[in-house]
Amino acid sequence: MESIHPPRNILIAGAGIAGIACALALSRELSPFVPDLKITVYERHDILSTSGGAINLTPVAQRHLAQLGVLDELDRMGSEGGADVDAIELFSMRSGRSIGSIDFTDHNGKGFGGYKGRRVMRIVLSVALLTVVERTRNVEIVFGKKVVNGEEDDNTAILHFQDGTNAVGDLIIGCDGVHSAVRTNFVDINRQSEYTGISFLQATIQTDTISSRIHFRSSALNMSRHGSMLTSYCDRDNDQIFAAAIVQFSQEALSRYRLEPGQDWATQNRIRCALREEMRDRFGKSAIPCIREMIESKADWMLYPVFQVRPGGRWCTERSILLGDAAHAMPPRDESAAYALDDAILFARILVRYRSEPLSEVFVAYETLRRDTINRAFKESHRMWARNRDMGMLEGRLKEWMMPFFLRNNRDQREAAWQFDAAKIALPTPAPSEDLVSLNSFLKDQAP
Ligand SMILES: Cc1cc2nc3c(=O)[nH]c(=O)nc-3n(C[C@H](O)[C@H](O)[C@H](O)COP(=O)(O)OP(=O)(O)OC[C@H]3O[C@@H](n4cnc5c(N)ncnc54)[C@H](O)[C@@H]3O)c2cc1C
Repeated sequence: MESIHPPRNILIAGAGIAGIACALALSRELSPFVPDLKITVYERHDILSTSGGAINLTPVAQRHLAQLGVLDELDRMGSEGGADVDAIELFSMRSGRSIGSIDFTDHNGKGFGGYKGRRVMRIVLSVALLTVVERTRNVEIVFGKKVVNGEEDDNTAILHFQDGTNAVGDLIIGCDGVHSAVRTNFVDINRQSEYTGISFLQATIQTDTISSRIHFRSSALNMSRHGSMLTSYCDRDNDQIFAAAIVQFSQEALSRYRLEPGQDWATQNRIRCALREEMRDRFGKSAIPCIREMIESKADWMLYPVFQVRPGGRWCTERSILLGDAAHAMPPRDESAAYALDDAILFARILVRYRSEPLSEVFVAYETLRRDTINRAFKESHRMWARNRDMGMLEGRLKEWMMPFFLRNNRDQREAAWQFDAAKIALPTPAPSEDLVSLNSFLKDQAP
C-alpha cells in the first residue's frame, strides 16, 4: 500500500534548468506544509559546465525565473547578466534585406507582462540559479553524482550512482536532460533520444574584432537555403556576439566533427579547420558584410548535435516522474527552456494541491494538465525546425517570401503564449475522499 503523505525527502537527478527550478519551486510551495522537507539535486558533472554558448530566454522564461528569484540574481551580475532582446530581426543572407522580426515588445515598446527577451551565456544562468539555491534552506546540490539506475517500492525510491553509492528518498524527479538515465533505465526504457539531423555550430566573437557595420540591434536570425545563422549580443555592454549556425548535418558526419576530451592536438586542429570550412561553404558568400567577417575570423566553431525525445510514452512510474527535456526534448526554438520552467512550477503547485493524495494522483493531475500543451509544442517545433534543412534555390526563395506572412499570421498566437504564467493558471482539484463524501451525506441526512 502506498502511504499518503507529501514527500519529505525528494531526489532530483540533474542540475540543469528544470532540476534547479524544480528544487526552488518545491522548496517554496512545500516548505509551509512539510517543515522537515529535504530536496537533494544530483548532478553528474564535478563542476558547472562552461560549454553550451548562450541561450535566449522568452518573456515566459523570464517571468518564471523572476518568480524563483533568479532574474534578480542575473540583474545583479551587471553586463554579464545578459543582453535585453527587444526583437529577433530576420534577414536574408542572399540579399542582406530585412524579412521581418519576432518582437518581444508590444506597440508601446513594453515587454509582455513586463518581460522582453534576454540572451545570456548558459554558464552565467547556471551561476545565477546556483546562487539562489545556496540561500535556500532545504535544497542541496551534490556534484559528481552520475545517476545510472533507480528502483522503487511502495514506500521508497532509490537512485544508484556510477560511483557505487545510492540515495534513498520518497520521490525521484528525473530532470537529467535529453539522454536521461532516469527515463532510459527505469521510467520508459524504450524511449531513447534521437538525432534530429540538425546541429548548431557555435562560437563567441569579440565585437571589437569586427570592423563592418553590425546589422542588428540586439539579435538576428540570418536565413539562407543552407541553414540559418543566429547572431546576438549576449551581454549588456554588447562586448560579445554569440553566433550559432543551425544547419543540416548527417549522423555519419557527427563523429568526424566532434571535439572530445582526450583528442590529440592534430585531431583537434583538423576538426577546427573542417568546421571553419563548413561555415565558409554555407555562409561565406552572404550579402551581409559582418557575417562574412565573422566567418573569416579566428573564431573556434563548436558542433552541438541536437537530439529530441518524443513526448508520447511514459512520464512516470509509482514514485518517479520526468520533467523538462528528460520528458520531452524538442528541437530548440528559443522556447524549450520556458517549457522546462513551466514543468517545474506546475509540478510543484500540483504536488502541494494534492498533498493529501497518493503520488499516483499527483502524477495523473500533472499529466492531464500538461500532455496536450507539450504535444502541440513538439509538433510546432518540428515544423519550424524543418525550415533549417538544406534547400534548392527555388525552395529557398519561397521560404524567404513566405516568412513575412508566416510572422504576421502567427503574431497573435505568439504574443498570447508569452502571457502564460504557470504560477497563476487554474489547477485541477483532488476529488473529495470517500470519507468526506459519506460525512457530507450523513450531515445532509441529519439536517432538519
Ligand atoms: C544547441 C541548443 C541550443 C538551444 N537554445 C535554446 C534557446 O536559445 N532557448 C531555449 O529556451 N532553449 C534552448 N535550447 C533548449 C534548452 O537548452 C533545453 O530545453 C533546456 O536546457 C532543458 O533543461 P533541462 O534542465 O530539462 O535539461 P538540461 O539543461 O540538459 O539539464 C540536464 C542536467 O542533468 C545533468 N545530467 C544528465 N545526465 C545525468 C545523470 N545521468 N546523472 C546526473 N545528472 C545528469 C546534466 O549534466 C545537466 O546538468 C537549446 C538546446 C540546444 C541543444
